[in-house]
Amino acid sequence: MTSARLALAGVACGLIATLSAPTGAVQRGAPAPPKVLVVRDVTVIDGTGAAARPHQSIVVRDGQIAEIVAAGGEPAGGTIVDGAGRFAVPGLFDAHVHVTGGTREEAVDELKRALAGGVTSVWDLAGDGRMASELAREALVGEIEAPTIYYVALMAGPAFFSDPRVIGASRGFAPGEAPWAQAITPATDVARAVAIARGTGATSLKLYAALDGDTVRRIGDEARRQGVRIVAHATVFPAKPSDLVAAGVTMLAHAAYLVWEGSPSTPDFTKRANGDFAGVPADSPVIERVLEGMRDRNIALNPTLWIFAEGLPKDDLSALRTSWMYAVTKRAAALGVSIVAGTDRIIDAANDPLPLIHRELEQLATGAGLKPMQALQAATRNAARTLGVDAKVGTIEPGKAADILLLDANPLDDIKNTRKIRAVIKGGRAVPR
Ligand SMILES: [Zn+2]
Repeated sequence: MTSARLALAGVACGLIATLSAPTGAVQRGAPAPPKVLVVRDVTVIDGTGAAARPHQSIVVRDGQIAEIVAAGGEPAGGTIVDGAGRFAVPGLFDAHVHVTGGTREEAVDELKRALAGGVTSVWDLAGDGRMASELAREALVGEIEAPTIYYVALMAGPAFFSDPRVIGASRGFAPGEAPWAQAITPATDVARAVAIARGTGATSLKLYAALDGDTVRRIGDEARRQGVRIVAHATVFPAKPSDLVAAGVTMLAHAAYLVWEGSPSTPDFTKRANGDFAGVPADSPVIERVLEGMRDRNIALNPTLWIFAEGLPKDDLSALRTSWMYAVTKRAAALGVSIVAGTDRIIDAANDPLPLIHRELEQLATGAGLKPMQALQAATRNAARTLGVDAKVGTIEPGKAADILLLDANPLDDIKNTRKIRAVIKGGRAVPR
């Protein structure tokens, strides 16, 4: 289209807009954020690890943080959010959710509640890639009230593809042949498989189960070549945690599965939560070596404490498993492994009106002994860094998206204060609550 025709189209649109509802792609979705928004006179906890800074004003332009100035130094005008006596933290990032297991309506409702409860970004770690892609688009253009959605494409050995969850997420395809849920064998053309996975719009791969060490290494090499990150269950049977570390994955999920480094693999990966927690203490040398490898190769740990401590049915191993995963997470953090918060669900509306990330933060602090600042960073900056989106989100700094949670009490005094939400700002716009 020529510039003259563009200009004419613009005039026509302007005329029509006064008479009827706006149409056309650029006007679709939620209202644009205010041109200028100022969170005035607030205590900023920016997520970088820096100490809290009282009496600051966060100046947001066109949805991005433009500057942070001493209160009183902000420009006049714009939309004002009164921050006096309150605390601004980065919007929360749940880096392990599953939202595509039910209907679209259920997913939209969960995402809306999660956003209203302070979650501004999520990383969906497996499900129906078609649905994840569509929800991500709807969130991006503002057709639904939702966090920013990133999602994975799953890979696993053929044995996994009898699992009813993956069959449900792949309807219309033979098991193992959906682009977002591929069966990988030693004979698979891995370069092609990774390219197919990328074609779903996934930002990363998820290695789930039933893969051997050599296959994991080939996937790791190819993913690096094609510039895509890998999340893996901390054991994928028969590949052990150390095989995944050697393959250079980006993040290991479920701290409890690290126990498999110290015992023989099981041929039945559905027993993955039943490791030998008594025989392989969390402080054994074999576990310590894995944690050191993670630190040295910059591999994050996504411990998912809440789901194991509170979300799963209790069994004979529950108490031992829970104390084991707390201990290994605590040790990982002490060694300098990046801890990334994730809930393995997103919300449990029947039991808690707020999204589960608040429960995970509490688990990280009271269970794994992280300081409130460390827990907060696990659910903000660390998640953004691990996914590779930290240039856009994860901290309150100039140039980042204005995804900000305004709290009535200081989360560094007590991490439970993340529940005391005054306002949620997403992309410079106050979210309706
Ligand atoms: Zn999961």
